[in-house]
Amino acid sequence: MNYHLVVFEKAFGLSQQLSDSDCPEFVFTGRSNVGKSSLLNKIFNRRSLARVSSMPGKTATINFYRAGEVRFVDLPGYGFAKVAKGERRRWDELIGGYFGQSRDIRIVFLLVDMRHPPSSDDLTMADYLIDTETPFVVLLTKADKLNKTQRTARLAAFAQEFSCGEEITMIPCSSETGEGVDAVREIIED
Ligand code: GDP
Repeated sequence: MNYHLVVFEKAFGLSQQLSDSDCPEFVFTGRSNVGKSSLLNKIFNRRSLARVSSMPGKTATINFYRAGEVRFVDLPGYGFAKVAKGERRRWDELIGGYFGQSRDIRIVFLLVDMRHPPSSDDLTMADYLIDTETPFVVLLTKADKLNKTQRTARLAAFAQEFSCGEEITMIPCSSETGEGVDAVREIIED
C-alpha cells in the first residue's frame, strides 16, 4: 500500500452521519493521549495528517482517511475523566454507533500505553471486540519510554490483565523510534 496516497476523507460527530461502509476498514482506537495521532502519522509517513494534540476535551469525531480502495478509521480517544456527561454520552453513541453498523471492519488496532495496566475502558473495549468476534491486535504505545526489564515485565502483565491475554497479539510501538510501525503495516497488507 502506498501510504503517501492517504488523504483525509471526512470527520463525523454523530454516528447517523457516517457514510456507508463501502470498502475494507482498518480501525484505530484507544484512550485519549495514548499516542494514536502520533502513531497514525508515523504509519502514514506524514508529519501531521492526524492531529497530534494532548488537549483535553477536544471535540470527539470519527475521522475517515482514504487510501485507494481502503479506509483508515480514527475513533475518538476515550476515557477523559474530566469530560462532561453530555460529551461522554455523545462519545458512547458515536463509538457504539460505528460498531453497531454493518461495516467491513478488517481489523481493529487497540492502542494501550505500554507503561501502565489497561484502563477499565481499554478492558471494556477488548471484551467488546472479543464478544463480537471482531479481529483485533493491541498496540502497546510509547515503548521507547521503557527499559528492557520494564518491557518484559509489562508484556507478562498485559497477558494476565486482558481477558484471554495470552491469545491476543500485542505489538510494542513507538512513534519516536518507529518501532512496531512495519509490523502494523504488515498486518494491514495481510
Ligand atoms: P492521542 O491523543 O492518542 O492522539 O495522542 P497524541 O498522538 O496526541 O500523543 C499524546 C502525547 O504523547 C504527545 O505529547 C506525544 O508527543 C506523546 N507521544 C505519542 N506517542 C509517543 C511515543 O511513541 N513515545 C513518546 N515518548 N511519546 C509519545
